[in-house]
Amino acid sequence: MSAHFALTLRVCTRSATYAQPRREDLRHTRNLGVSTWGAQYGGSRTLETVRRLALCSLLLAAATVACTGDGPAVEDPTSTSGASASPTSDPPTSPSATPSASPSVSPSVRPVRFDSAAALADVRLLAGEIGPRLTTEPAFREGAAVVERRFREYGYQVRRQPFAVPAGDSWGVPVDAGRSFNVVATPRGFDAAEPHVIVGAHLDTVAVAPGAEDNASGVAVLLELARLASEDRTRVPAVLIAFGGEEPRGDGDDLHHFGSQHYVRTMPPAQRDALHAMMSLDRVGVGSFVPVCTGPLSPHWVRDSVLAAAERQDIPARTCELTTSDHWAFEKAGFAVTRLGSIDYPEYHSADDLPGVVDRWQLARTGRLAWSWLSAR
Ligand SMILES: [Zn+2]
Repeated sequence: MSAHFALTLRVCTRSATYAQPRREDLRHTRNLGVSTWGAQYGGSRTLETVRRLALCSLLLAAATVACTGDGPAVEDPTSTSGASASPTSDPPTSPSATPSASPSVSPSVRPVRFDSAAALADVRLLAGEIGPRLTTEPAFREGAAVVERRFREYGYQVRRQPFAVPAGDSWGVPVDAGRSFNVVATPRGFDAAEPHVIVGAHLDTVAVAPGAEDNASGVAVLLELARLASEDRTRVPAVLIAFGGEEPRGDGDDLHHFGSQHYVRTMPPAQRDALHAMMSLDRVGVGSFVPVCTGPLSPHWVRDSVLAAAERQDIPARTCELTTSDHWAFEKAGFAVTRLGSIDYPEYHSADDLPGVVDRWQLARTGRLAWSWLSAR
């Protein structure tokens, strides 16, 4: 058992909210995670995979030599977590041979790494500069333009998927009916009838909240994943979605998750057969472990394959059960899902949900974990 994992188990015993993974669950997890992905997409672990994992381990070990805390030791100008030494950049999660038009140039192995500084900058842009992003308001569209521009820069095909939202109550503020949209990015040449996954994060906020943690954090991680997936391989193609209309407009199961419910309703039959799993990133910048959650309906293999990735990467993670994010729209429709994030914080849905709430190193944990899961490393 690794030190991080031991720490995870210790911390688990202090929480009543999050379930402690049992050893037999984790064994089961690993089997499920590998066999489910592997059986459908290219068989069990191949020599190539083993080679990559070994190389990955070497790189991580090399990074760890220079580490204290979460990453290589250098001064951290941004963290509010009180860590005395922290990385200026995140440890590599995989090696990548940089494609080059001129092969005579000496071959370089460039680490593909989650850049938590870039993610934090996006939190500051969305929540600090743009501010509250009620799903029908101009500020939401301003945030969406940032997301669309970035997706396009990384080479994705981008479309808006419009939908209607009813009048209601946005966390104590009466709001009018209106229209909003999802921003959907697909890799070039994507075929929705072929196996793929969806990773989503909601871009909207309740009326009064700048939404740094809820959910500029998730969108910022999504944008970094978009960059990584454009530079390196994922197990299967990933559709990346910035959802509108996640926040509630009243009580009850139908008065929230408007964007994701609309997406699910309009999925063509061929895509329904081909969608392998959905991951929601929602409130992923507070805390010191990564909640890996589902609602009560989803099979657990996605959650468990994420836990297996957490073990591979020595990232503290715990399971929980909740229905309060876009994964629930997919889960209700019968898909296998997970949600990363959800740790409570005092500024939730308030005007104080500002960028200072978000911890860069929690963004790094979540981002590295999601990338490990997407890329199988
Ligand atoms: Zn949220």
